Amino acid sequence: MSGGLDSALACKVLMEAGADVVCLHFFTGFCVTGHHSRVGREDKPISNDALQVAAEIGVPIELVDISKEYLSIVLHPKHGYGANMNPCIDCREFMLLKAKDHMEQVGADFVFTGEVIGQRPMSQTRSMLDAIERRTGLQGRLLRPLSAKLLPPTIVEREKLIDREKLLDLQGRSRKHQLALAERFGITRFMQPAGGCCFLTDEAYSRKFRDVILHKDEDAISMDDVYLLGVGRHFRLSPALKVIIGRDEVENNFLSRYNQEYWCARARSYPGPTALVMGEIDEDSWEKIGAMVARYCDGKEQPSVEVEFSHGNDSRVLTVSPAPDELLGSFRI
Ligand code: SF4
Repeated sequence: MSGGLDSALACKVLMEAGADVVCLHFFTGFCVTGHHSRVGREDKPISNDALQVAAEIGVPIELVDISKEYLSIVLHPKHGYGANMNPCIDCREFMLLKAKDHMEQVGADFVFTGEVIGQRPMSQTRSMLDAIERRTGLQGRLLRPLSAKLLPPTIVEREKLIDREKLLDLQGRSRKHQLALAERFGITRFMQPAGGCCFLTDEAYSRKFRDVILHKDEDAISMDDVYLLGVGRHFRLSPALKVIIGRDEVENNFLSRYNQEYWCARARSYPGPTALVMGEIDEDSWEKIGAMVARYCDGKEQPSVEVEFSHGNDSRVLTVSPAPDELLGSFRI
C-alpha cells in the first residue's frame, strides 16, 4: 500500500469480497510525501499517507523499511531506468519479492497490488505485468483486483478463495472509475498523484542524484545523501565539494541539523538562507561559498556582506561581495 488511491481501492475490493487482508507499506526513502514530513513542512501531514488511508479503510498495515537494500536496486537496476532515475521494473519486482516472503512467513494465500493494466508506460503494460509475475515466482498467486477480469484467473480465483465476479476490469490511464469508486467506498485520505509521489521520476531530483553517484563511492552514499537531494539548491564547486542552499525557512532548519557533520554558512546581518557545505573546503572556496550565501540574502545589493561559517563549536566570519549570477549558474547542478 503506497498511500495512493489504487492500492486502497484494491484493498477495499478484496475486503468486500470477504478476504482477510494485511497491507505492507515499503519505506524506500524516495517518497515525496514522506520527505515533506521528514523536513517538517507545517502544511503537510506528519503521519504517513499509507497509514492514514489504511486507518480510513480499517485495514492492518505494516511499515517495512527497505531503504538500505532499495538504494542498491536504484543504483544497479537490471532492467534500466525510466525517463529519469526511476527503476520501475526492478522496484516492482523487489517489492513483490518482499511481499512474497511475507506471504510465506504468515501463511497467506496470495499477494495483491493496486496495479491497473496500461496505467503506467514502463511497469504496467500487460506483457510487463506477466513478466514480473513470472520473475518473482508468484505465478497464480499475484492478484491485481482492479484489472483481474482482464487477466487470466489466478489460483486464488480458480480455487474460489475469491469470487472473480467481485473483481474489476479497469485499464488505461483514466482515473475516472477509480475516483467514482473512491466516493462509493468513502475513501478520502489518499495521496494525490499530482506532482508525483516518487522522487525518482523527477528530472531535477534525478540530475542531483546522478551528481552524487558520480562523485561518491557507492559504499559512501548514505540515506542522508538521499534525503538532502530533496532539499535546497545544489551547487558543485569541485569533485569533492558541494553546497546546498535552503530555499525557505523549513529547508534552512533542516540543513542546520547537519551542522555537527558539515560546515554551515549564513549571512550575519541580513535575513537569508542557510548553506550546507559538504566536503573539504580549500582556501579558494571559502570566499566563493560566502559570496553564494550573500547572493541569496537580503543584502544581495550591498557591496559587501558578512557571512558566518559554523561547524559544531568552530566558527569563522568572512566579508564578501555577493556572487554574480553567472558564477552561481556555472556551479548549479
Ligand atoms: S515510480 Fe518510483 S515507487 Fe513507483 S514503481 Fe517507479 S521507482 Fe518504484
